[in-house]
Amino acid sequence: MSVKPIRLFGDPVLRTPAEPVRDFDAELRRLVKDLADTMLDAPGLGLAAPQIGVGLRVFTYRVDDGEPGHLVNPSLDLSEQTDEDDEGCLSFPGITYPVPRAHGVIAKGFTMYGEPVTIEGTELLARCIQHETDHLDGILFIDRMDPAQRKQAMKAIRESDWWGDPVPRVKVSPHQTRGLAL
Ligand code: ZN
Repeated sequence: MSVKPIRLFGDPVLRTPAEPVRDFDAELRRLVKDLADTMLDAPGLGLAAPQIGVGLRVFTYRVDDGEPGHLVNPSLDLSEQTDEDDEGCLSFPGITYPVPRAHGVIAKGFTMYGEPVTIEGTELLARCIQHETDHLDGILFIDRMDPAQRKQAMKAIRESDWWGDPVPRVKVSPHQTRGLAL
């Protein structure tokens, strides 16, 4: 079990696009394990490598009670239909706001062993995959909110106890994200 500190909004690593994985080696498998352990410990529904300070295109997810899934070097096809629902992020403790997302997604990528894999999901799984893939591009959920929601969210962020904290640290649950922390 290896739980890593989760980087919070304000840390530049969250705004840095991640590099594609080229070596499907033991180090990558350790990274996937660290992500899964940290995600389950938080607890959260998804976690992307930049959120633990690693600039590689990898994320883990767990939107039901099964084993955590992971995806390396994802590329997404999004449905035209969109949904708006509450969304949180482990890098923004306690901040939950409605975010519009595609209703469905087909995500193509690789397993940690380098095998091609396709994940199809709708609703929460689709939302999770879009949120985590955004992290790999340095895009955060506040960027996807409509301007009025973003203004409210930024106010709540500035008033939160963790904002401006220069030291990355793990936040203990509950995060008051209604189980939607990604
Ligand atoms: Zn997030």
